[in-house]
Amino acid sequence: MRVSCGNPCGMRVEKPEERMRKTKLVITIGPSLEDPDLLREVLREADAVRLNASHGDAPSRTRAVEQVRTLSADLGRLVPIFLDLQGPKWRVGDLPRPIELPAESIGCLLAPGDPCLQGAAWDIPLPHPEILAGARPGQRWLLDDGSLELQVTSAGPGGVRARVVRGGLLKARKGIHPLGLEMAVEPLTDKDREDVAWGVRYGVEFFAQSFVRSAADIRELQRLIAAAGGTQPIIAKIEHPQALERLEEILEASWGVMVARGDLGVELGVERVPATQKHIIRCARKALKPVITATQMLESMIENPSPTRAEASDVANAIWDGTDAVMLSAESAAGQYPGEAVAWLARIAAEADQHPQAVRGDEPDLVQHHTGRTDVSVAFAASRCAEQLEARWIVAFTEGGGSARMVSRLAGPTRVIGATTDLGTARRMGLLRGVEPLLIRRFESTDEMVESVERLLQERHNLDRGDTVVMTFGLPLWRTGTTNSLKVVVF
Ligand code: ATP
Ligand code: MG
Ligand code: MG
Repeated sequence: MRVSCGNPCGMRVEKPEERMRKTKLVITIGPSLEDPDLLREVLREADAVRLNASHGDAPSRTRAVEQVRTLSADLGRLVPIFLDLQGPKWRVGDLPRPIELPAESIGCLLAPGDPCLQGAAWDIPLPHPEILAGARPGQRWLLDDGSLELQVTSAGPGGVRARVVRGGLLKARKGIHPLGLEMAVEPLTDKDREDVAWGVRYGVEFFAQSFVRSAADIRELQRLIAAAGGTQPIIAKIEHPQALERLEEILEASWGVMVARGDLGVELGVERVPATQKHIIRCARKALKPVITATQMLESMIENPSPTRAEASDVANAIWDGTDAVMLSAESAAGQYPGEAVAWLARIAAEADQHPQAVRGDEPDLVQHHTGRTDVSVAFAASRCAEQLEARWIVAFTEGGGSARMVSRLAGPTRVIGATTDLGTARRMGLLRGVEPLLIRRFESTDEMVESVERLLQERHNLDRGDTVVMTFGLPLWRTGTTNSLKVVVF
C-alpha cells in the first residue's frame, strides 16, 4: 500500500497485517489534520485518536469527532477517540499570535486585559491570579513543557516583570510551571466538568485524566462521568510525582495509563524521564493494564519531513520497554508534516515489533501477581496453548473488553482478535497491543459462534485449512467478567 499523504520520500508502508505491526499508534488531532483527505490517509494507519481539551474549542472538537467517525467507518476501521482533560494545569492565555521571547529581554505577565507595564519588551496574558499573587523575585518559571524559561525580576499589583533565561517562540495556551508553587489541589476544574459533559454527549470512548495523584482522583472523575450519564473508562496520565508514589493503586483504579513525558519532565527533570518511563511501563505490565508512551516521540517532525535517529531509537526503545501504544502530539496536531509523522511512526513501530527484543517472555512472571483469578489463568493458558500449537490467532470473545485486555498482555508472539458485540468495546481495542477488533452479532450457542467466526476469519484473514485458532470465552455467553473457557479449533 502506498501512503499518499504528501510523502516526499516515497516511503512504502505496508498494511499492519503485512508487516505484522502490533504496537498501536495514537494521533492527536488539531489544525494540521483539518483536511479530510489527509485525515482519511492518516486514519488508515492510526489506531486511536486523542483530542486535547486544552486546545481548540468545542465546535472544532465536535467537527473532529464527526470527521473521525465518518472517515473511519468509510475505511472499515474501528478507531477509539479519547478526550484528554486539562486538569489542574496552569496555562498562559489566548494569544492573537505567537510571541517571540528573546533571551535576556524583560517583559511582563498580566491578568488578561490589564495594561502592559512600562518598558516591557513583550507581555503575556496569564488567566491565573493565584500565580500572579504568588510571584516573588528570583523565582524560575518554566513554559511549554520546560522549553522556555523566565526568571521573575519584580512582582506587584499591576503585574509581574520577568527576564527571559531560555528564549524562543511562545504559542497560545502553553503550560506555565512556576517552580516551587503548588498547583490547585482540586483534581477537577470547572473546565474539566464542561469537557466531560461534552465528551459524554459526543460519545468518546475514554477520558484521559491529567495530573492524577491518587486512585481517589480517578474515582472522582468516574463519579463525574457517571453523573453526566457516561460509562467511559479512564486513562490516567502519569506526570505528577505523587502519582509515582501511588502507581499501584492508580493502575488498579484506571483502565490504563499514559507515560505523559511532557509534564513528567517538567516535574522530575528531563534526565529522570527514561528510567521513570521504564518503571511505569513495567508496573503497567505487571498490573495487566495497557500503557501509552507519549510526548516528543518524533518532535523534530513538527518542522521536518523525516525523524532524527534519536527519535527513531526512542520510539523503538519505548516498544522494547513494553509499551502498548506510542503517541504523537504536536507532530500530528499542529506540525507541518502530520502525514509523514504518522507514516514514519508506523514504519518504525512495525520494524521494532519484528525485532527479537519485542518478544518479552515475561508472561509467567506477570501472572504470578494475579493468583486466584480465573480470567487471568484462562488468558495465560490460551497463550501457552497457542504457542505450543503454533496457532494463527487467539480469538478472545469479550463483552466489556476485560479479557481482550488480559489476552493482549499475555498472548506472547500470537496475534489476537477481540470479538465483541459492543461497538465501544471493539473501538477501545485500538489501544491494545496486538489486538484486532472484530464486531460480531449475538449468537445463541458456542457452536454457532465458532462457525461464524471461522467464516469471518477466512474472509478477512486468509485463514487456511489446517490452521489452528485458540478461543477464550465465558459460559454462559455474553455476560461480562465470566471468561472461564478455552477451545482449540483446527479449521
Ligand atoms: P498536555 O500537557 O495535555 O500534553 P500540551 O500543551 O503539551 O498539553 P499536546 O496535546 O501535547 O498539548 O500538543 C502539543 C502542542 O500541539 C500544543 O501545545 C499545541 O500548541 C498544539 N495543539 C494540540 N492540539 C491542538 C489543537 N486542537 N489546536 C491547536 N493546537 C493544538
Ligand atoms: Mg503535551
Ligand atoms: Mg501534560
